[in-house]
Amino acid sequence: MKQLKDLSLKELEEFYSQQKKEYQKYLDADITINMARGRPAPEQLDLSDNLLNLTRADIGVKDSAGLDCRNYGGLCGLPECRALFGEIFGMPASQVIIGGTSSLNLMYDYVSQCCTHGVGGCEPWMRNERRKFIAVVPGYDRHFAIAEHFGLEMISVPMTASGPDMDMIEALVGDSDVKGMFCVPKYSNPDGITYSPETVERIAAMKTAAPDFRVIWDEAYIIHDLYDQGDELANVYEFAKKYGAEDRFFMVASTSKITFAGAGLSAMAASERNIKEITDRLSVQVICYDKINQLRHCRLYRSMEDLRAQMKKHASLLRPKFDAVLSVLHEQLDGLGVASFNSPRGGYFISLDVNVGSAKKVGKMCAECGLTLTGVGATYPYGIDPNDANIRIAPSCPSVSELDTAARILCVCVRIAACEALLGLN
Ligand code: PLP
Repeated sequence: MKQLKDLSLKELEEFYSQQKKEYQKYLDADITINMARGRPAPEQLDLSDNLLNLTRADIGVKDSAGLDCRNYGGLCGLPECRALFGEIFGMPASQVIIGGTSSLNLMYDYVSQCCTHGVGGCEPWMRNERRKFIAVVPGYDRHFAIAEHFGLEMISVPMTASGPDMDMIEALVGDSDVKGMFCVPKYSNPDGITYSPETVERIAAMKTAAPDFRVIWDEAYIIHDLYDQGDELANVYEFAKKYGAEDRFFMVASTSKITFAGAGLSAMAASERNIKEITDRLSVQVICYDKINQLRHCRLYRSMEDLRAQMKKHASLLRPKFDAVLSVLHEQLDGLGVASFNSPRGGYFISLDVNVGSAKKVGKMCAECGLTLTGVGATYPYGIDPNDANIRIAPSCPSVSELDTAARILCVCVRIAACEALLGLN
């Protein structure tokens, strides 16, 4: 089929009326599908049910150093857990701290520490009324919410196929009011892009005017490959050492999409100096995190091999879902010149860009059919997509057949919005 813009008026009107009929079918059907957030599906959660079946006899009560995990103590976490996350991060276990059940919480607390007490011997960010943060767009709404919460003015930097636009970032960090950025370097949310080694190196190498510039390196999808051959992410800390920028990085990860979402383990890793500052703060904040949960996790997942085997099981459940959405998007949108989308090799999202000015309309039409998408605009700071073009698709939770329906609804809405723009019916 020709691109919509190349159709004659008559052809376009005919196509539009077919699409409206198709849309009416979905309006008349009783559909309720929620694709708003990247939640694991129940079958994925079942993969970790053994965590619920472990008894005292299975896990014991002591960690590898002989600490009784039922009692206070062990602020930085079990040695075996720190070692395992150390492998995930590519960091020494001594520079890893195990947290509670949420990496988002660790990020919030770290930004809070930067704001109220300052880091690296610098003054608290809160004292600077012009404090700013770089927001890679499209990005993760909860990152943006943290920056907004602490009054960090966000400056959008677009994502490219190899990571954020580094020319722009290198120019921005010349301003000492620019205090940092969030990065999801592997299978970014929502684009599914893995930063190239050059991008990773430039983030470590760039000269920042703010000595306390911090990169929140969120490895939420670090082992979340959909295929046997996953993307490779360069070790940012190796580059940081090369350029003397070790203190720039605050790394986080969690098992939210490995075991139980919001009920697993989180972890952070950083330079020795940062870890010291964080531990000083933690010792005021908490006596210790949940070591019994750490014990359970480390008994079931003893090595990277165990984790990789678990992730292969997740992939076999997730892959057909991504395939279901992508095959409909290709079938329904290719060649029409009305949308573009990525085909990620891991992570939790597909990012769809529709014609400028039509994403909100598409989201509203989908909602009228009973299909809930991630709030349109949510992938941009302050919930405002200046192009009104990006739609995040989260295929993990609905079934394959629901996803087929959901993708068809989405496509018909995209086609209608595109026709209406061309026909001047907005
Ligand atoms: N970071 C990113 C990029 C995410 O997409 C998510 C959840 O979707 C999280 C963090 C939340 O992680 P946690 O459950 O460890 O708080």
